[in-house]
Amino acid sequence: MAAPAMEGVAVTALRTVLHRVRQAAERSGRRADDVRVVAVSKTKPISLIEQVYDSGYRCFGENYVQEIVEKAPQLPNDIEWHFVGHLQSNKAKSLLAAVPHLAMVEGVDNEKVANHLDRAVSSIGRKPLKVLVQVNTSGEESKSGIHPSKCVDLVKHVLSCHNLDFSGLMTIGMPDYSSTPQNFKRLSDCRTEVCRALGMMEDQCELSMGMSGDFEQAIEMGSTNVRIGSTIFGPREYPMKK
Ligand SMILES: *Cc1c(COP(=O)(O)O)cnc(C)c1O
Repeated sequence: MAAPAMEGVAVTALRTVLHRVRQAAERSGRRADDVRVVAVSKTKPISLIEQVYDSGYRCFGENYVQEIVEKAPQLPNDIEWHFVGHLQSNKAKSLLAAVPHLAMVEGVDNEKVANHLDRAVSSIGRKPLKVLVQVNTSGEESKSGIHPSKCVDLVKHVLSCHNLDFSGLMTIGMPDYSSTPQNFKRLSDCRTEVCRALGMMEDQCELSMGMSGDFEQAIEMGSTNVRIGSTIFGPREYPMKK
């Protein structure tokens, strides 16, 4: 990485985030390497992503199919792209067609989208796609994600899809962070249940939880994957469409 004085703001902000991640990981008796930071670049221009890429960073996330489909082909293909959040099943095919090297989908919350992704991966003939099952841990109707009581069944279904590589569980905390500890605890409990029911080791099942406002707490509660947008790239200029 360049000397701090020469850095762009996003690179400096990422550096600070990585430092905070390391400290939170150490507080929970883990190493920084145990926690992946997805730099969520939605609504941000290619030039800003390039700036962070040029500093050596490779893991980025997008939340809108239309946007990742436009951006990814313009950027180097050694980027590890994560699609984060709800995915509509009818968009699975165009997502994989435009981003054939997609690293992970964080947000499978029904069998239909799993089936569509499975078929899309198969049709382009690549290695199995890592997916996380999204769980609605807050009970808010507006949130996507499967109900915690249905989690084991959906994971079982994902495991039966040969072109999908089940990698863990994901959740989104409350927007005001008021009850995120309960949300994170619930996701962790879901993992215990899934691993017990399906005979998996807990370290084979990731927990994607924590965003700009709550990532340190999430890491202290066992998160292995945090999705951080505005703290790295600055506030978004237009509101999320959902
Ligand atoms: C936008 C988004 C994030 C990042 O949110 P910030 O609060 O800006 O860090 C994380 N996860 C999902 C699913 C998102 O859509």
